[in-house]
Amino acid sequence: MKTDRKKLPKLGKSTTAIHAGGLEHSIYGEVSVPIFQSSTFAFPSAEEGAARFSGEKPGYIYSRLDNPTVNALEESVATLEGGFGAVATATGMAAVSSVYLAFLSRGDHVVASSCIYGSSRVILESELSRYGVETTFVDSSEPSNIEKAMRPQTRMVFVETPMNPSIRLTDLAGAAAIAKKCGALLAVDNTFAGPTLQRPLEFGADIVIHSLTKFINGHADVLGGMVVTRDQEHYDRVKKVISLFGCTMDPHQAWLILRGLRTLAIRVEKAQENAMKLAHFLESHPRVTWVSYPGLAGHPQHDLAKRQMDGFGCMISFGVEKGLQGGITLMNNVGLIGLAVSLGGVESLIEHPASMTHACIPPEKRREAGILDELVRLSVGCEDFEDLRNDLDQALNRIGDYRSVTSALQAEMEASQEPGC
Ligand SMILES: *Cc1c(COP(=O)(O)O)cnc(C)c1O
Repeated sequence: MKTDRKKLPKLGKSTTAIHAGGLEHSIYGEVSVPIFQSSTFAFPSAEEGAARFSGEKPGYIYSRLDNPTVNALEESVATLEGGFGAVATATGMAAVSSVYLAFLSRGDHVVASSCIYGSSRVILESELSRYGVETTFVDSSEPSNIEKAMRPQTRMVFVETPMNPSIRLTDLAGAAAIAKKCGALLAVDNTFAGPTLQRPLEFGADIVIHSLTKFINGHADVLGGMVVTRDQEHYDRVKKVISLFGCTMDPHQAWLILRGLRTLAIRVEKAQENAMKLAHFLESHPRVTWVSYPGLAGHPQHDLAKRQMDGFGCMISFGVEKGLQGGITLMNNVGLIGLAVSLGGVESLIEHPASMTHACIPPEKRREAGILDELVRLSVGCEDFEDLRNDLDQALNRIGDYRSVTSALQAEMEASQEPGC
């Protein structure tokens, strides 16, 4: 349900994250938004029920359509993103697929960044293609690549920034201008930055998508998604698809995510302070071959990051010596830093695409997609910097002696082999 935004002055990001979407107190004066764990809502009369169904009167009907706890979360994210309204979904992928379903029809064409989230790409490639929607994938770090791919049938431009796993950026204002000129919608998956650091609607995007599972919830314990729109027309369209297809969020899930959201600004502030220090540390480490972090002056889009982001974020990718084996050695030696996919939690997580998420892709294809063997992705959390640095340092230093470890092991194995075996 689209509620009237509280008539509040423009507040800071922390204040907004903490207060936006708060419901009116009930008679009990509760401070936390209650969990309205009810699948359906009673009407005081048949006439009132009819008025709610027709939209003549506001009021709750059924939780697949609207629920007060879910609405509170929607209102919070919409306020942070500066959107007209937002609709919550069960997962981030439910948000992505709802945006596709709401706006794409047979014969439409999509220009998408080749670095969008894997599942978002697979839906376009092998599911929507079955329904007659065609997609061209481009390196969106250069706006002219988007422009060259536009066709008269292009209905949507779909990008992310920062991108995974290169931590390169898409110029949002540039992408928005191209989409607008061609009459296409610009949809931006803002999961990697989050609304306290980047608000794509301010740069002309029409739709913003979030996997709330990441920074917004921030505690690696709940899944969720959100679609935020710039205007009512797109809001109504997305709302209809999400309600009809049943991608709706559950009230208990919404309450947990709302609890995480309240500390979004302070968590991201701490994590990106760690990220900046770690990026410098990694740059100077002898086992590290390169570092991609938008906050480093050497990042090719450092100026763009300053223009479109309020901070440089918490995601770093870097290369390690000895390629695939170096990455594996690092993964197997981190202690404090968790070896897991996902990102955006208070705990730091590390991932090596070539040996983990993208291991099933043939090496040549991986390289084509920019997934280098030596590339490691780090989601920086809120721990103490020194502890993260020490953990990375000891694990990186193991890369140097992996050869001698392996060859010593090999020599031992050879020596222990019975002749004739
Ligand atoms: C994780 C993620 C998704 C998918 O979200 P789920 O909550 O796992 O469904 C989509 N986009 C990006 C950028 C993500 O990181």
